[in-house]
Amino acid sequence: MKKLIANKICRLKKIITDVSIYGYKKTFTLLVKEMWATFGNILYYLPPPSFRKYKLPRANIRLMITSHCNLNCIGCNAFSPLAKEEFLSPKVVKNDLKKLSSIHNGKIQYIGLSGGEPLLHPDLLKITDLVEQFFPSAYHEITTNGILLNSQNDTFWENLKKNKFCICITRYPISLPFNEIKIKAEKFQISCYYGAGTDENIRIMSKTPLNLKGNENKVKMFRACSKANNCTFIHHGKIFQCPVIVNITIFNDYFKTNLKVHKKDYFNLNSAKNFDQILDFLRKPIPFCRYCSIHKKVYGIQWKKSEKQLSEWV
Ligand code: SF4
Ligand code: SF4
Repeated sequence: MKKLIANKICRLKKIITDVSIYGYKKTFTLLVKEMWATFGNILYYLPPPSFRKYKLPRANIRLMITSHCNLNCIGCNAFSPLAKEEFLSPKVVKNDLKKLSSIHNGKIQYIGLSGGEPLLHPDLLKITDLVEQFFPSAYHEITTNGILLNSQNDTFWENLKKNKFCICITRYPISLPFNEIKIKAEKFQISCYYGAGTDENIRIMSKTPLNLKGNENKVKMFRACSKANNCTFIHHGKIFQCPVIVNITIFNDYFKTNLKVHKKDYFNLNSAKNFDQILDFLRKPIPFCRYCSIHKKVYGIQWKKSEKQLSEWV
């Protein structure tokens, strides 16, 4: 947090000292933009309000189409550094989206593709076609670290344009030709932007430690968790509260731990009669929340590559 504030003060000072270059009007606009972005950054660090328990009118649904990643960040909450190469098949995606679309009744407003790194998926464009086929009115987004964006060919960009996808890049301290990528995206009328909570010069990670004994108070953890009722995934016919449960077998396999997923930890899509049942499931604590020490969340971890140490996650 201290680094974030110091960085923001530097940037505000720089804008003010550049007034002779940009003039008063442009400087004022830049200052307002910077302060608005700062407000967003600070919100990102604050604990979420306790509205987790309320049934939301609509849901955002994400698909984790790869488990592994080409960046392998310290403490990745999808456990990607520990994952073997694994891709969600278009057949599975089709079944899940088909079933969801038959019951959602306009209550899904967003379909997001993430990972791991989704651009590693060899059938990514088949999946984007499926998203458009089953959810033509939802907002479509790919969340990526951006490493593979500049090497994509026109077929990729045309497909994203056809299927109305936007690209959200999570910013890391790696060299990324963002301006080149943005120009290419604009050529195909695709929105391409950096995600919220990311900053130009720094990347600070946080860690929500896992409690291997599973003896936290699940209700308190759920209410305080920023992912609860907010970061929903569909995976192999099941609806999950968060990416942690989707990929916990990767963690268990790697560290030989035994964090158990109970059948009450997910909603089985085949048993859904309507989408309200899913919205109701999402507002309630699940047994797995007892493994998350949300109140011990650590902020301000300097970004670096994972060394695959247990201490990155507990
Ligand atoms: S880029 Fe994202 S998915 Fe990949 S390792 Fe880093 S945090 Fe995990
Ligand atoms: S298991 Fe519960 S507390 Fe843990 S990240 Fe998921 S929703 Fe949050």
